[in-house]
Amino acid sequence: MTGTTIAVPNRSQYPGLFVGGQWLATGRSAPVLNPATGQIVVDAPLGSASEADAAVTAARVAFDDGPWPRMSSAERAARLGRLRDVLAQWNDDIVALAVAEAGVPTTIARSSQVDAPMRLLDFFIERATRFDPIRPLPVTTLPSRHGGTILGAGVVQRSPRGVVTAITPFNAPFLVNLLKVGPALAAGCTVVLKPSDYTPLEALLLGAAAAEADLPAGVLNVVTGGAEVGERLTTDPRVDMVTFTGSDAVGAKVMAQASATLKHVTLELGGKSAMIVRADADLDAVAARGAAELTTFAGQGCALWTRHLVHRSIYDVYVERLAAVLQRMPIGDPADARTVVGPLIRESACARTRRYVAGALEEGARLVCGGRRPPGMDRGFFYEPTLLADVRADMTVAQEEVFGPVGAAIPFDDDEEAIRIANHSVFGLSGSIWTADTGTAFAMAQRINTGNVSINGGTGGMSPWAPFGGYKRSGLGRELGADVLDDFCETKTIQFHAG
Ligand code: NAD
Repeated sequence: MTGTTIAVPNRSQYPGLFVGGQWLATGRSAPVLNPATGQIVVDAPLGSASEADAAVTAARVAFDDGPWPRMSSAERAARLGRLRDVLAQWNDDIVALAVAEAGVPTTIARSSQVDAPMRLLDFFIERATRFDPIRPLPVTTLPSRHGGTILGAGVVQRSPRGVVTAITPFNAPFLVNLLKVGPALAAGCTVVLKPSDYTPLEALLLGAAAAEADLPAGVLNVVTGGAEVGERLTTDPRVDMVTFTGSDAVGAKVMAQASATLKHVTLELGGKSAMIVRADADLDAVAARGAAELTTFAGQGCALWTRHLVHRSIYDVYVERLAAVLQRMPIGDPADARTVVGPLIRESACARTRRYVAGALEEGARLVCGGRRPPGMDRGFFYEPTLLADVRADMTVAQEEVFGPVGAAIPFDDDEEAIRIANHSVFGLSGSIWTADTGTAFAMAQRINTGNVSINGGTGGMSPWAPFGGYKRSGLGRELGADVLDDFCETKTIQFHAG
């Protein structure tokens, strides 16, 4: 392995959990591991159900009695602007933490883990600035029971839902934390954020930024820990809403946990997205993008296109070109500026990836490249970019989320078959179509059952204006979009008799 592994980054040490505007010492800690080495980056404070309770109390008091939900949204936007300025000053630290605790290569850590989320935060602030909680209803006339006509009018008022529990995964911590905390705060809710137990530091940093920006006490609380803490935060009757990002299995549990108290629940879950390569696609461009889709975050991305459906007439050439790109990709220490493919989060993720690849070979798939730990790299949690060919749509590796750098290439004979295979999935998060015929691609996109479909690469990134989320087991609800604050609001219709 080349390069030096990152030293303890700045802003990685915290005296406790961020609760009620203060650092609450827990007396317990858990090591945060650097996935590139398996070594401890730092010991982070560890929460339990009792700190979860304290955080919900703080968020409840801040919502019921504090200034935050009562401010105008423009005032909240101004306060979030201060938070934004603090985070902007800490950008280098956030990059370092993304490398150290999540294993994101420095080459993409700044663009994906700082620049993109900061743009989203700007968007949430802009939405709050323009947010008008009152929307007039059209004046209507309805027949009266007593004869004649009633003239009616009214308004729909939006107000913040209340206390929001935000639970996030390990793979893009700062981005996903902000995706939830940003609009929830902008809408006037108070938040308890529980990050993945693998990546607590970027969440604790958000707590520190809230303190630095002088957000009112209890508006943002951060509690670390695992399932026990998550369970408490999703069952507590004082919590009004749960916004969860993670696996479909845990998402289903979260929904069940939140059901007894009938919380509003939104879920951003896994995916097994299809990349459809038609016979007239630009193969070099598609192979380059296809390789990126299999290796970004070492394949640990919910919306990555991991099933490559390729027209039979170009299938062999595509598989060969994609494998050639994958085999050239520098794999190694994410702190090294040459690294493109970093580590998986833990050894258990490597073991899961190995199991999926072995299972696929048993079911008849062909290993084109990868399928092993990179030779000579004896520490850290690495797995080579792997391509499986001759995969059938119903094989396990084409149905389940591997969450490692593994692609499944599946041939198809015509557009109908490509759409059928793309839709043959319990998931429905993302997808893409590559072709010179964008009209046909548009018609195909309309028939693909996923929350997002891009044609020839789309806009190339996450547009804050585009709602993001999934069909089927990929989730419930959407993040982002022009009405991003609405999900964090209750609506109330007030009608009046006008005549
Ligand atoms: P995970 O489901 O294992 O954990 C997610 C979070 O849930 C963690 O914070 C974890 O501690 C918590 N948790 C575990 N058990 C819980 C319980 N019983 N109650 C409440 N919380 C509990 O997911 P992960 O391994 O951290 O992340 C990978 C998954 O996240 C993948 O499936 C990926 O597709 C998905 N993901 C989806 C999106 C999206 O926007 N759709 C984005 C990123 C990741």
